[in-house]
Amino acid sequence: MLTVRRCDDVPDAGPELDVRRVGPMMSVTVTFLCIHLRGFWTHWNEGRHRTQPCTDPVESCAGHRSKLPLRWKAYAHSYDHDQHDQCLLEMTPGAARQVKRALQAHESLRGLRVKVTRGKGPKARLSVSVQKLPDPRELHKLPAEHDALITLSKLWGFALENPPEFPEADLIPTE
Ligand SMILES: [Zn+2]
Repeated sequence: MLTVRRCDDVPDAGPELDVRRVGPMMSVTVTFLCIHLRGFWTHWNEGRHRTQPCTDPVESCAGHRSKLPLRWKAYAHSYDHDQHDQCLLEMTPGAARQVKRALQAHESLRGLRVKVTRGKGPKARLSVSVQKLPDPRELHKLPAEHDALITLSKLWGFALENPPEFPEADLIPTE
């Protein structure tokens, strides 16, 4: 007779924040809750349709060893005005440069509202337009910043002392 696996404790949720990517013909309007963008080298795993982290030293990085393409990605803890939730917005180097330019003399991204749009086709670039510059008088109303690394470490499974317990189907595929 088969023994079924039971678990009366509700399993942990997946990554703390939803990782949001702007796909073709999509736009997302966000207010940044983070002070800075968090940048990471990642590998694009074609077979598994997902990003995976590039690890140090690169000689022992699984992505480097499999010769997977290397991509830099920026992640920003944000409030999504369309979905009405907090997320981790993933951006390309081009989008990250536009965000930094948009910031002008402001030192922190917190409170900057932008609309990020992608055109038609898989190769279309992200474009960033500023909706509202940070207003120092309103910053205290924004939710506290979450560390992007906490979500990413769960997503990428490198939080060894706290391994991910969510099924891989929960991971968000990249475009
Ligand atoms: Zn690597």
